[in-house]
Amino acid sequence: MTANATRVLVLNSGSSSVKYQLLDMKDGSRLAVGLVERIGEETSRLSHTPLATGGDKREREARIADHEEALKAVADELSADGLGLDSPELAAIGHRVVHGGLKFTAPTVIDDAVLKEIERLVPVAPLHNPANITGIKTAQALRPDLPQVAVFDTAFHTTMPEHAARYAIDVETADAHRIRRYGFHGTSHAYVSRKTAELLGKAPEDVNVIVLHLGNGASASAVASGRCVDTSMGLTPLEGLVMGTRSGDIDPAVVFHLKRVAGMDADEVDELLNKKSGLVGLCGDNDMREIRRRIDEGDQRAALAFDIYIHRLKKYIGAYSAVLGRVDAVAFTAGVGENAAPVREAAVKGLEELGLAVDADLNAVRSDAARLISPEYARVAVAVVPTDEELEIAGQTYALVGN
Ligand code: ADP
Repeated sequence: MTANATRVLVLNSGSSSVKYQLLDMKDGSRLAVGLVERIGEETSRLSHTPLATGGDKREREARIADHEEALKAVADELSADGLGLDSPELAAIGHRVVHGGLKFTAPTVIDDAVLKEIERLVPVAPLHNPANITGIKTAQALRPDLPQVAVFDTAFHTTMPEHAARYAIDVETADAHRIRRYGFHGTSHAYVSRKTAELLGKAPEDVNVIVLHLGNGASASAVASGRCVDTSMGLTPLEGLVMGTRSGDIDPAVVFHLKRVAGMDADEVDELLNKKSGLVGLCGDNDMREIRRRIDEGDQRAALAFDIYIHRLKKYIGAYSAVLGRVDAVAFTAGVGENAAPVREAAVKGLEELGLAVDADLNAVRSDAARLISPEYARVAVAVVPTDEELEIAGQTYALVGN
């Protein structure tokens, strides 16, 4: 790597999509962002915005057969702006990898052994890790000489104590099948908890934070002195909060009941709980903007879905207040957390005894900046902290390979 190699390409490879951002770690600025969707379908779609040149977003539709073609198309787009993968300024490629199991507690330079271990984890992340592996192999083929770094969604949660990470089931069975709570969205929880400490003018070691990552997927975490001590997602991202399409916490006996009484098989139950539940299952919509609009029009189903969502959120705030003992801040982040003031207001309402309150005027402000929304007198700071998983992945990648 040359001394002025300060750029990091961040790749987030899904089963049929690749999201990417090229960042310059001199100042954390974004040089290009884009997305390839519907890989393998007849009309795949690529959209690319060359922020470095101030150019307009370019979009094209054509068949992109696989991840290899997708990455080549991305490389071509970047080259067209003089930002190609062959540039000596590119320091590394950082890959978002969903499941790192217990082994990967930190970002890791990828070699054959690391790739093998990520492959070994496919049974616990069948939807995500295969796509991540494809992305890594394709990027390696394009630039074999360049460091490739895996940044794991689970890594931040590996500090959870055993009493939080283990399910109360037979230990031999759990260990034989690696069944335990791993947690996800870790990159976001790490970034947001650190930014929250910054917002309070304190070191991460000196604050306890509850992070509420409320996107389409949603998770909460309890972070004590910069270390995760509990999180709401478990073996898979299905556990915990009510999400856009996922049920979150549910009595596991519902699964037996659906099998025995409704005659559903494992795949059907999986689909029901992951894709047809949560807000969409409750009211037909998973977008919080649409749900709020329907509530304003007096829609009862939307109102009940909202109440169920908030009730679960409150339970986690209460539970994590107990887990942490002392809470310095509650931070809202991701699509819903950053934008939906009514969700923030409702989640905190009635929790004054826990030291929580929201100032209505501050809560109504729309801004991209990290900010406090609690009144002066509140014992616990309530914050809105926009997440930035790509910047965090790029930062962790660069810290590992940069000079
Ligand atoms: P993910 O990365 O999990 O797909 P995001 O963090 O982008 O999700 O969040 C997407 C969700 O954010 C949408 O489904 C919607 O519910 C919510 N959202 C986005 N913008 C707004 C807004 N202005 N007001 C309320 N909710 C919003």
